[in-house]
Amino acid sequence: MAQQIEEILNDEFVGKKVELRGWIYRKRRVGKLIFIVLRDSTDIVQCVVEKRKIPEETFKLLDKVGVESSLVLKGTVRKEERAPTGYEVDVEEIAVVGPSYNFPISKDKSDEFLLDNRHLWVRSREMNAILKIRHTVFKALHEFFRDRGYYETQGPMFVTGAVEGGSTLFEVPYFGKKVYLTQSSQFYLETLIFSLEKVYTVAPSFRAEKSRTRRHLTEYWHAEAEAAWYHNDDMMRDEEDMIVHIIQRVLEERKKELKYLNRDIELLQNIEKPFERMRYEKLINFAQEHGVNIEYGDDLGADEETAITKHFNAPVFITHYPREIKPFYHRPDPDNPNVILCHDLLAPEGYGEIIGGGERIYKLEVLLQRMEEEGLNPEDYYWYVDLRKYGSVPHAGFGLGMDRFVWWIAGLSHIKYAIPYPRTIRRTKP
Ligand code: ATP
Ligand code: MG
Repeated sequence: MAQQIEEILNDEFVGKKVELRGWIYRKRRVGKLIFIVLRDSTDIVQCVVEKRKIPEETFKLLDKVGVESSLVLKGTVRKEERAPTGYEVDVEEIAVVGPSYNFPISKDKSDEFLLDNRHLWVRSREMNAILKIRHTVFKALHEFFRDRGYYETQGPMFVTGAVEGGSTLFEVPYFGKKVYLTQSSQFYLETLIFSLEKVYTVAPSFRAEKSRTRRHLTEYWHAEAEAAWYHNDDMMRDEEDMIVHIIQRVLEERKKELKYLNRDIELLQNIEKPFERMRYEKLINFAQEHGVNIEYGDDLGADEETAITKHFNAPVFITHYPREIKPFYHRPDPDNPNVILCHDLLAPEGYGEIIGGGERIYKLEVLLQRMEEEGLNPEDYYWYVDLRKYGSVPHAGFGLGMDRFVWWIAGLSHIKYAIPYPRTIRRTKP
């Protein structure tokens, strides 16, 4: 049975025979020796091939092939402090499985080049670390919801109405008609709480985002939840439990990867519940005091959130936004109907919004009034309106951008590094 590199990098393996399978990460010929740094999904290790120990043909071939050639080898582990990961393998048998010549990616390639060659760049140690963190984030999110009694479910991707406003809808021809790609599964989740009470989904959402920011994709992974009988505060409590649970898991499982990416781990370790809750009104004052050009009633864009959250070192919930700047479905605060019972969760360090959520309107008259104010035709939303006719209940929900979350947790400069194949206004390849 072959081993993986990570497991053999310890003293217990010294003097033991191992079998490794992987790809050439670096290679150097020194006289009758070839030094190969081998990589697999787990780590890298230096392997030394001595000419006299293997058939001449194989040595010649090894000398010729380039980085990213795939290999299988057998050898004995030795401690070697000068080797990149502290151990070395003395090779006794080796075979080239798939040769590689002139691998296009070398040092100093531009960002555009790496994006065009993402299918090859995903092999990089940097992408490997990011993708592992992403894996743990998704895993921990599912763990959280299952433990909390949420049912996993799915909404359709082809839809006929907007959730977040018409300007970012993608239109798709559909047998002589037009439909859209979904911006959010929220409305469908709202229908499902009447059956399952607490539901969640992890699915793509599509938004024709015309602005170029560090945090917008046109196709992103959206974790959404909706719960019957929940008010705004109940939902925020679940969300902070969820965020803290996921961060804990990432710290348990992915320290090595975070270190590789030079992430400030201490900042993540210091994140504690409860998160600060700040009303929108207070946030505007805070922003103005810190030199951000913004007025009461303005929506927060990427630039404003960056400027504001540079002063935060933990996530902060912003609540009670003015009703005009949020979609129609948010429930107005009975104590002051000019503001709504909603929340955005802003990640610190200049990252900004990762969650948008809140309480939904559950009274029919209020919903119809808000739709009229926004110029929406209730017939277009007949099924959404129906929910308020047949046994309506208070409920709340949220949407978490998974790629945004990974972007922040991993401390990346742009959201496009947080997803294997980013889709942006200019990029639909590879
Ligand atoms: P923003 O103001 O940043 O455009 P939004 O208010 O449009 O966000 P929501 O409609 O509340 O966002 O969506 C819920 C969550 O989905 C957001 O908090 C964010 O994490 C994520 N999200 C929204 N749009 C995008 C996008 N274009 N790319 C990646 N993630 C997104
Ligand atoms: Mg948006």
